[in-house]
Amino acid sequence: MPDSDSSERTPGTGDMSATEFRRFGHEIVDWIANYFEHIEDLPVLAQVEPGDLKAQLPSAPPLQGEPMSAILADVDRLIVPALTHWSHPSFFAYFATSTSAPGIFGELLSSAFDVKSMLWRTSPASTELEEVVLDWLRQMIGLDTGMSGIIYDTASVSSMHAIAAAREGVEMRVREEGMSGRKDLPLLRVYASDQSHSSIDKGVITLGLGQRALRKIPSDSEFRMDVKALGEAVDEDKRNGILPFCVVATVGTTSTSSIDPVPEIVEVCEQHTMWLHVDAAYAGSAAIVPEMRHILEGCQRADSLVLNPHKWLFTPFDLSVLYCRHMDLLGRAFSLVPEYLRTPEQAKVRSGSDYGVQLGRRFRALKLWMIIRYFGHEGMAARIRDHCRLAKLFASWIEASPQWEMMAPTPFALVCFRAHPRLQAKTEEAEAKRLDVLNEAIMHGVNATGKAFLSHTKLNDKLTLRLSIGNIRTTEKHVRQVWELLNEQLRLLSSTPA
Ligand code: PLP
Repeated sequence: MPDSDSSERTPGTGDMSATEFRRFGHEIVDWIANYFEHIEDLPVLAQVEPGDLKAQLPSAPPLQGEPMSAILADVDRLIVPALTHWSHPSFFAYFATSTSAPGIFGELLSSAFDVKSMLWRTSPASTELEEVVLDWLRQMIGLDTGMSGIIYDTASVSSMHAIAAAREGVEMRVREEGMSGRKDLPLLRVYASDQSHSSIDKGVITLGLGQRALRKIPSDSEFRMDVKALGEAVDEDKRNGILPFCVVATVGTTSTSSIDPVPEIVEVCEQHTMWLHVDAAYAGSAAIVPEMRHILEGCQRADSLVLNPHKWLFTPFDLSVLYCRHMDLLGRAFSLVPEYLRTPEQAKVRSGSDYGVQLGRRFRALKLWMIIRYFGHEGMAARIRDHCRLAKLFASWIEASPQWEMMAPTPFALVCFRAHPRLQAKTEEAEAKRLDVLNEAIMHGVNATGKAFLSHTKLNDKLTLRLSIGNIRTTEKHVRQVWELLNEQLRLLSSTPA
C-alpha cells in the first residue's frame, strides 16, 4: 500500500474528502486484487507467536489523526503477517470457506449505506431484499413455501433463536415469567446427537434452559443420530415428568459432515409434538446442487433449519439464514415495540427486529443477492460440485495407500483420515498413542510449512485429520500439493527415531 504522504491531512471536522476517498478507495481495490493474485505466496496459517502483534502496537490511541497512507502501510507491515488467510486456496482447516468478489462489493456498499435494518421504514431495501433473496435461496435448496427466512449473523445465533421459538410453542409463559423460581415448570428437554455442534449447548445455556436440558443421543458407526435411542430417551424422560420439546438434527456434522436420518427423526418429533430444528449450517448449501438435493430429505417437515451462506456459498462472513415455519412463534418470543419505534405501517410490513434479540441489523442480504446474481444458481452449484469431486479424489488416494486410512465416509467435501503406517506397537494402548502422536505431528508439520492448513478432530477417541474443501480458489493442484506435503511429513517422521 502507499508510502506515507506528508501532504495528506486528517480534516478537523467532517469525514475524509471525496478526492481522498476516491484515491484510497482505488488503491484499496487494487490492493485486494493483488492480494488475491499473490495470496499463494503468503503462509496460510499465520506464522506468529501469541503477543507478537500486540507488542508492535501502541498501547494508547493517537491524539491526532494520522494519514490514511500511514495506516494502510501498517496493514501491510503489521496486520497481514498476523493474518491466517482464510481466502488462501490451501486453507483446508475447520470448514474451509471463502469470500468472493461480488460478496466483497456487497459488503463495501453495505458499509457505505450503513443501514440499521430494524424497522421496515429504516431499511425498506434491506427488509424487502432480505425476503426476496431468502426466497430465492429457499427455492435453490428445494424447501417448501411454508418456510420463511430471516438473516442472523451466525448459525449459533440462528439455532438459539430456533430453540427460543420452540420453547415459546410449549405455552408455558416463559417469556412473561421466566424459568427461575417456578415450581410449575417441568425440566424442558432438547435432544441432539453426540456429534452436534457446541452452538446447541451454548444456545440452551443462553436461553436459561441449563446444560442439563440438553440430552445427547448416541450416534451410530457412521456418526448419525441413533433414532431408536432418541425414541427411548424421549419415552424415559416423559415417564420421569420431563417435557421433551425440541430435537436438533444435523445435516453435515462438524467433525465428519455426517447426516442425521431426518426422515426418521421427524417421525419421532411428530409423534411427541416436538419442534424439529435442522442444523444444516455447513452442508445445507450443497442442496443447491440438483443431484444432492436429497440431503435435505425430511426437512420439508422440519419446523426450522439453519444454513450458513458464509460457510459454503462464497459469502463473506457473516451471514446465516434461519428458515422457520412458525414466524409467529419467533415473533411472540422476541417482538417488543416501544413507543419510539412505533410506525404507522407496522401492521402491513415485516420488521427484522421483531424476530430476534437485535434491534439494528446489518444489510447482509445485499451481498447474497449480488453473489447469487453474479454466479447464478448453476455457477454456484458447479463450484460446490467440484469441491465434492476434489474431496472424493483425495479420499481415493487415501484409500489406495497402505500408509493412510479413512476415518469416516465423505458425503460432501470433508475428508476424515489419518496416517496408519503398519508398524505395530507392543500393546493396543501404545499403538493408539503412537498413531495419535504421529498424526498430530504430521498436522503441525504441514501447517508449519505455511503451504497448507489442516485441522483435526477425535473420532472414537482417535485423533483424526480433517481436509475440508470449500474455498472458491481451490483447484486440483492445491489438493495434490497437500497430499504431497502430508506424505513428506509422514516420511520425515517415520525416519526420525522415537
Ligand atoms: N453448526 C455446525 C454444524 C457447524 O459446523 C458450525 C461451525 O462450524 C456451527 C453450527 C456454528 O457456526 P457459526 O460460526 O456460524 O455460529
